[in-house]
Amino acid sequence: MLYTAPMNPSETLLELHEQWEHCTTCTLKATATRAVFGVGNPRARIVFIGEAPGKKEDETGVPFVGAAGKFLDEMLASIDMERGDIYITNIVKYRPPNNRDPEPEEKDACRDWLHAEISYIHPDLIVFLGRHSMNDFFPHEKISEAHGKLLVKKFAGITTTHFLPLYHPAAALYNGALRAKLFEDFKKIPLVFSKIEK
Ligand code: URA
Repeated sequence: MLYTAPMNPSETLLELHEQWEHCTTCTLKATATRAVFGVGNPRARIVFIGEAPGKKEDETGVPFVGAAGKFLDEMLASIDMERGDIYITNIVKYRPPNNRDPEPEEKDACRDWLHAEISYIHPDLIVFLGRHSMNDFFPHEKISEAHGKLLVKKFAGITTTHFLPLYHPAAALYNGALRAKLFEDFKKIPLVFSKIEK
């Protein structure tokens, strides 16, 4: 890791992101327009984790503002939720060229940043959007088998032990069967959440 300065405890999420923005470990920084910070409610009890910014996100600096983001908003509305209720971020903070899949070392480079966000929010539930974010925590799970199933595991530095993998909205956008599955799986969020509510 090239960035070795100690991270001071952040007073705000913006401060946290601004500190990590100085990190030079991720080689995607050279080709992306900007870092895309996680956004949403700093007191959210649910954190959604996607894969990496796409074109629109790279342009605006906001996660999930493109077509997949609009679909996500639709699914949130279907369970009476909105962006203000959640916090949403990506495992990789910089857009991979031509929206290719992020490489393992690119995921490694942003992992401490992601974990810092999660520690700041300390949610009760983490929802993975797609296999990349799920495999970052559960490398042996397959999204086709694990989607919609609650995974319970303790990770160092992460308070919640509850994780719900879902298909990525971009994968389901133009696939009717996956789309229906994703809506069905989304309905599990309030159910799972009520079971783990403190
Ligand atoms: N897909 C993602 O995984 N993240 C975004 O921010 C946008 C699309």
